[in-house]
Amino acid sequence: MTLTFRTKLLASNIALVAGVVLVVLLQISQSVGADMRRELDHRLEEQARGAAQWVGEGRHPGRLATRLAVVVHADVSIFDREGALVGSSDQGAPPSSSTAPAAGHAGDEPELVAARTGIAGHASRQRAPGGEEMHYVAVPAQDGLIVRLAVPLSDINATLRDLHERLAGAFAVAVLAAVAFGFFAARVAARPLRAMTDSATRLAAGQYDIQVASTSPDEFGMLSRSLGTLATQLKAKISDLTTERDRLSAILSGMVEGVLVLDGSGNVLLANPAAATILGAEGALEGRDVASTVHDAKLRAVLEKTLASREIHEGEIETPGDGGQTIAVYVRPLAVDVGGVVTVLRDMTRIRRLLAQRRDFVADVSHEFRTPVTAIQGYAETLLRGATDTTTARQFLEIIHRHALRLGGLVESLLELSELEVRPPEEAIRETVDVQLIAKNVAETLTKRALAEGVTLELDVADDAIAVGDPSGLEEVIENLVDNAMKYGKARGTVRVTGGRHGARVVLAIADDGAGIDPKHLPHLFERFYRVDPSRSRERGGAGLGLAIVKQIVEGMAGSVEVASIVGTGTTFTVSLPTRAA
Ligand code: ADP
Repeated sequence: MTLTFRTKLLASNIALVAGVVLVVLLQISQSVGADMRRELDHRLEEQARGAAQWVGEGRHPGRLATRLAVVVHADVSIFDREGALVGSSDQGAPPSSSTAPAAGHAGDEPELVAARTGIAGHASRQRAPGGEEMHYVAVPAQDGLIVRLAVPLSDINATLRDLHERLAGAFAVAVLAAVAFGFFAARVAARPLRAMTDSATRLAAGQYDIQVASTSPDEFGMLSRSLGTLATQLKAKISDLTTERDRLSAILSGMVEGVLVLDGSGNVLLANPAAATILGAEGALEGRDVASTVHDAKLRAVLEKTLASREIHEGEIETPGDGGQTIAVYVRPLAVDVGGVVTVLRDMTRIRRLLAQRRDFVADVSHEFRTPVTAIQGYAETLLRGATDTTTARQFLEIIHRHALRLGGLVESLLELSELEVRPPEEAIRETVDVQLIAKNVAETLTKRALAEGVTLELDVADDAIAVGDPSGLEEVIENLVDNAMKYGKARGTVRVTGGRHGARVVLAIADDGAGIDPKHLPHLFERFYRVDPSRSRERGGAGLGLAIVKQIVEGMAGSVEVASIVGTGTTFTVSLPTRAA
C-alpha cells in the first residue's frame, strides 16, 4: 500500500503526540503514587512514634493497642524484643506474629527487623497470601518493645485507580485532538506539495504554462517558485529547440540534394524528401534498414562499404533500366563514437541528359554543315584552279550558290530556334489572331506551288476561330505544316486545312493523304534535326528543324501541337491555341 505524504505526516503527528502524552501521564501517575505512599509513610511513622511514648512495661499491651488504634485510625500491634506479638488492636490476631509471611520466622518482618536496630521500619505486603495489601510502619518503644501501625493500601490504590482512569481519559482526548489537529496540519502542509506535484506532472506531460501563485517564504514556497522558473526556462529552451529543429527540417526539406543518415547498424536515422524521391522509396524512411530503403544494389554496396571501412566515398552511380538515373553520391562517416554515415545524393540525370543533348546538337549541327561546306570548298577550289570552261564554271557557281543558300537557311533556322528557346514568357506577343485570315494568306502564298505540284489545297476554317497570340508566328507555323504536308504527302494528293472554335480553344488541323509516319518516329518528330528519312528530307531541303520551330512558336503562345498518323492513309498535325490571354 502506498501511503501519501499527508497520511504519513498525520500518522507521525499522532504517534508523536500519543507517545509524549503517554510518557507524561505515566510519569504523573508514578509520581502521584509515590507521593501518596510517602505521605502515608510519613503520617504513620509520626503516629507510631507518638504511640510508642505510651507503650512500656507494666501497661497492658492488648488494651493499649486497642485504645491507640482508635486514636490513630490504624491497626496497632505491640511486639516484645523477641518479636513476639504482645498486644494487638486486632482481637482475632494470634499471640505470636500472625501477620508474618507463612514461610518466615516470627518477628522477621523487615519493618520489625529495622525497628529492633533502633530505626523506623517500613514495608508493604499482603496481610495474608491473597489477602488485603497493607502498609506497615514499626518504631522502637521503651523497654525493647516495638510498636507497629498498619493501614490497608486499598484507599491509596482506589485513588490511584481513579487517577489512572482520568489519565486514560486525558490520553484519549489528547490523541483525538492530535488526530483532528494533525489532519488539519497535514492538509495545510500537503497542499503546496500537491500543487507542486500537479505542476511537475504537467511539466512532464509537456505543458509548460504552469501558474505559480505561492508567495510563501518557506521552503515549499521557494521550491514552488523554482519550479515555475524551471518551467519558464524549459519552455524557452524547448521553443528554441523547436525553432532550430523546424529551421533544419525546412532546410533539409527544401534541399535539392537528398540527405540520408544511417546509424552504425545501417538503419535510417534521417532522410529528407529529396532522398526519398531520388531513392524512389515510399513512406517514412526513418527506422528502416538500408536493404529496404536503397533498392539499387550498387548504391547499397557503396553505403555498406563506407559503413564498414569508415572512409569517404565520392562518385556517380548509373541505375539500370529504361528510366535509369545518374546519381552523384557522397558518403562520409559520422563521428566514430556515434558510428553511421551521412550520405548526400544528387540526381544528375537531367544535367547529364542536357549535356548529352548539347553534345548531340553540336554533332548534328556539324553534320548538317559539313555537306554544304565541303561542296562549296570543293567547287570553289576547282574554280580557283581555273581548269573549267565557262558553262561548267557557271554550273559550279550555281551549286556553290545552292549550298550557300542551304547554309544560310540552316543558320537562320538555328538562330530563330535559339531565340525562341530563350524568349521569356512575359515577352510573348498576345494579340488577337484571326486564324481564318492567316490560313487564307498562307494558302494564297502556296497556291502557285500547289498548282505546279498538282496538289489540291482545301481550306475550311470557321470565322469564329479567333485566338490570342502572335499572328506572324502562327503564319509561320501554318506555312511550315502545309509545306511539310505538300513535301511528304502524296504526289498530286490533297492537303486540308480545317479549323474552328472548341470551347476556350481554337483548334486547327493540317492533314494530308500521304504515306503516313511509322508510330515509332512520332514521339521524336518535334526534336531538333529529327528526320524520318534523312536522305529524302535533305533532298527536299529539310534539316529537321521545321517542326522543332513549330513546337517552340506554338508553346510560346500557350498552345500545343500534336501529330497523329496512319501509315498508308495520311498524317494530321493539330494545333490548339487559347482564345483568351492567360
Ligand atoms: P524537315 O526540314 O526535314 O522537313 P521537319 O522538322 O519539318 O524537318 O520535319 C521533320 C520530319 O518529319 C521530316 O523530315 C519528315 O520526315 C517528317 N514529316 C514532317 N511532316 C510530315 C508529313 N506531313 N508526312 C510525313 N512525314 C512528315
